Amino acid sequence: MALTDEQLERYSRHIILKGFGVKGQKRLLAGSVLVVGAGGLGSPAALYLAAAGVGRVGIVDSDVVSLSNLQRQVAHATSGIGTSKVASAAAAMRAINPDVEVVEHDLWLDASNAAGVIAPYDFVIEGADNFPTKFLVNDACVLAGKPFCHGGILRFQGQMMTYVPGQGPCYRCAFKEPPPEGAAPSCSQAGVIGAVAGVIGSLQALEAVKYLAGVGELAVGRIVTYDAFYGDFDEIQLSGREPNCAVCGDHPTITALADYGAPACRA
Ligand code: ZN
Repeated sequence: MALTDEQLERYSRHIILKGFGVKGQKRLLAGSVLVVGAGGLGSPAALYLAAAGVGRVGIVDSDVVSLSNLQRQVAHATSGIGTSKVASAAAAMRAINPDVEVVEHDLWLDASNAAGVIAPYDFVIEGADNFPTKFLVNDACVLAGKPFCHGGILRFQGQMMTYVPGQGPCYRCAFKEPPPEGAAPSCSQAGVIGAVAGVIGSLQALEAVKYLAGVGELAVGRIVTYDAFYGDFDEIQLSGREPNCAVCGDHPTITALADYGAPACRA
């Protein structure tokens, strides 16, 4: 289907990009992304995906907007305090770009629903604020053969990595299993500087856009780290898929989804 005159103008900065063009934009418009978490990471990711013209963007969260969210969760406004985060983020996305079909998943992702929620999407952005959900998303994506981008932030630091089936290690290859409850601090306990969420969430949106448009190199097999305190990007090279990984290894022990304990905190 040809782009309309309005679309040619809206997406002109993509279209004139060498290697992206009308073809890349059409791929975005035909593509779909699920954003897990409408918080610090999910907010910028969802807004950029909407602006970019990804055809269908789903957003998952069960929380409501609170005053302490607004320091970093830029999809929400002061007027939205007390309302559903998913509805608040969806309204912001629709206001940016009516081309985008926004799907609201106002629920807590768990072992009983994760596979079904993830199934209709081409790519998943994991912007969860707790380890049980991070491992659940990883395992659901690996079992479904679905690419996804992990993101994490704490204090002045952030990190992200992308998993593509058959091309590299998964999140569990790198991090094995969730830390014991209470062992790792959460953002509500240790704090986080707001804009670091914008940096990492935007990187996650970029990974999804590159995957859908078929341009650039994805952060597969390496963890990209950002230290906002020193203004420094770095990366940790992983040695590839871990043969002993419980979910993507040679002899997986995780063959169905399970919940990994109560979340440490909710954004
Ligand atoms: Zn693995």
